Amino acid sequence: MKKYNFNPGPSVLPEFTIKNTAEAILNLNGTGLSIMEISHRSKDFEAILKESKELMRELLDIPAGYSIIFLQGGASMQFAMIPSNFLNTKAAYLDSGSWASKAVKEARLFGEVIVVASSKEQNYTFIPKGYTIPADADYFHITTNNTIYGTELKTDISSPVPLIADASSDILSRPMDVSKYAMIYGGAQKNLGPAGVSFAIIKDSLLEKITRKMPTMLNYKTFVDNDSLYNTPPCVSIYSCLQTMKWLKDLGGLKAIHKINNEKADMLYNEIDRNKLFVSPLSEQADRSIMNVVFVFKPEYKELEEKFMELTKSKGIVGIKGHRSVGGFRASIYNALSIEGVQTLVQAMKEFEAQV
Ligand SMILES: *Cc1c(COP(=O)(O)O)cnc(C)c1O
Repeated sequence: MKKYNFNPGPSVLPEFTIKNTAEAILNLNGTGLSIMEISHRSKDFEAILKESKELMRELLDIPAGYSIIFLQGGASMQFAMIPSNFLNTKAAYLDSGSWASKAVKEARLFGEVIVVASSKEQNYTFIPKGYTIPADADYFHITTNNTIYGTELKTDISSPVPLIADASSDILSRPMDVSKYAMIYGGAQKNLGPAGVSFAIIKDSLLEKITRKMPTMLNYKTFVDNDSLYNTPPCVSIYSCLQTMKWLKDLGGLKAIHKINNEKADMLYNEIDRNKLFVSPLSEQADRSIMNVVFVFKPEYKELEEKFMELTKSKGIVGIKGHRSVGGFRASIYNALSIEGVQTLVQAMKEFEAQV
């Protein structure tokens, strides 16, 4: 049976990415060698790395004065690297979810942290607004998409201090005004490629602010100065990311995928709002994520959860169980999740309603 993969991460990837990666694992560009066994300093891999950076620059329309690097350790490693590199006296953070709060925890190891606002007391059902960013902070850290709670900052905010964004779960889902950010980073395994690689887009002027002595592999300059080749990079994961970016370019780029993503999200939110069984736990409609759609049964229908899971499973729907801290359901509808997949889920919701 055809599967519709709604997993939150690692998550669905374009068939194009999976097929081309499988081929390159068997035989890279007719070299007779696998991408897994070639040197990261070979001409073949250098070309892959170069094209990956060029395509990311093109898709996101990254202005001059920014470097693109690939690292390991996931977004979680960036939670520590960011303060290690850029927190000299104090940093400001927006606490919009548990990933954000994990980033705060790491930053506290390096200096003073001002949490400008938090929606934790309301279980992160909205993104805090109306806060003040201290003008003397070294940087301001935000999470553009809160993967677990299904809230998303859909606009590029302005900040009086360098703005650093964890965009792990919405990178390349919409055009971004990169010039508003000093750094955008994330793990690849939500919307870009397999686990094992993370990306960072860093403004060169931010790198000049690094003063702390730290281990070589924690210093962003190591990656920038050595073009992500100080040590062995995750070659296969980078190759896969490149395939996804090629797929995105062929599809028409970020404007085109953003339109499709909005259509998919609207379809699902409309059904949640219409269906008598379900409700969105979010308190502000404007914050609804177009990547992770969270919904729960109304209290009077809550005991039907298992039955609904059975029905969706019978239709090939995979990975919609909600995060343990929210409950209910979470449909992650990343770039590669087809419209047909969303239609199948909506159909299941309608069918289930008719049975109750
Ligand atoms: C998944 C996720 C992370 C953690 O990523 P790892 O690569 O597993 O460390 C951090 N931030 C956000 C927004 C995420 O969705």
